[in-house]
Amino acid sequence: MTERSLLMIPGPIEVEPEVMRAVGRAAPSHMDPDFARAFGRALGRMREVFGAPSGQPFAVAGSGTLAMEMAVANVIEPGDRAVVVNTGYFSDRMGAILERLGARVDHVRAPVGGAPEIAEVERAVAAEATKLVTITHVDTSTGVLADVEGYARAAKAHGALSAVDGVCATGGERFLQDAWGVDVCLTASQKAIGVPPGLALVMAGPRAIEAWKARKAKVPSLYLDWGEWLPIMQGYEKGAPGYFATPAVNLIAGLDVSLAELVAEGMEARFARHRRMAGAFRAAFRALGLMLLPLREEITANTLSAVCYPEGVDVSLVGRVKAEGVVIAGGLHPQAKAKYFRVGHMGAIAPSDVMATVGAIERGLAASGYRFDLGAGLAAAQRALREVASTSA
Ligand SMILES: *Cc1c(COP(=O)(O)O)cnc(C)c1O
Repeated sequence: MTERSLLMIPGPIEVEPEVMRAVGRAAPSHMDPDFARAFGRALGRMREVFGAPSGQPFAVAGSGTLAMEMAVANVIEPGDRAVVVNTGYFSDRMGAILERLGARVDHVRAPVGGAPEIAEVERAVAAEATKLVTITHVDTSTGVLADVEGYARAAKAHGALSAVDGVCATGGERFLQDAWGVDVCLTASQKAIGVPPGLALVMAGPRAIEAWKARKAKVPSLYLDWGEWLPIMQGYEKGAPGYFATPAVNLIAGLDVSLAELVAEGMEARFARHRRMAGAFRAAFRALGLMLLPLREEITANTLSAVCYPEGVDVSLVGRVKAEGVVIAGGLHPQAKAKYFRVGHMGAIAPSDVMATVGAIERGLAASGYRFDLGAGLAAAQRALREVASTSA
């Protein structure tokens, strides 16, 4: 029996073989000129991926949570007020990080599967002087897609900075950091970026850098301090390697290859492909009589689906789908965990992955005793893939 299975969770995702080959080569010295060129190229390509020609990229060893901390620790000072646009588990985590940094944190919440109205966020920001508004582009616990552009505009209108947690979005969901006026955005390597876990990626816009320069209090963590990393990142972009803390050299080599692929596909084409794959999944779930956790179509993510179990089916479905060769994830939101499962569909995902996954979910549902027309989801996914292929051709 083969050990091969398809990994369809919201990170880590399936990594392309050419990226794995780059990661698997002997670790170069961080001072090696070829490595320095690869690192420099990867940083330059981050600007394209984030839509941030004016941004300063940072790539350091760490997970997405470290990227969240780096993004806000450099702009928040003790006593600053922050408003969290809360769409789930990862927005709560951002709130916890901000509190650790001494911020006064107000959350603007929505019911599970919902997103706050822009006007509500605007009222919260206007109520008191606010340093920072944080937004989770896609909350991986709910599959809710935030209107980043709208929230960032509301922040800016009242003189606040905006920070976007793009960990489950950047490189998959449409995002234009400069054009949308977002001040800092962060992601991690293992989601739509398509590299194994271990890199924290942060893009600081000019206003975020100014806020960091103007701070009175020291950044509370040496490792997170842009002051330590800025000369290193600028050096690598000029081909001049340097040392503050050892870069994850193998992962940086993989990042160089992966970002080259993202940029070669074209960001708009890549966003459209994610929408097409997500559309096929949604058509399949609808045909199978399954409800999504997000409450409205326009706030439904294209990088993952959060799908409610039908009557009589529970979390054992995840194991049944795995037995059919596809790894999906259970729920994550503390208030609804046992009620839904999640399917990641980001990165190099293709129609064949959609069909394999929908097929395995159908067999898992049948094994769980759910009554439905076997093949209905597959047929709906086929039709959705055909329709979008023919309209975009
Ligand atoms: C995965 C994820 C994180 C955390 O990333 P880790 O690499 O697990 O630390 C943060 N925010 C969002 C939106 C995520 O999807």
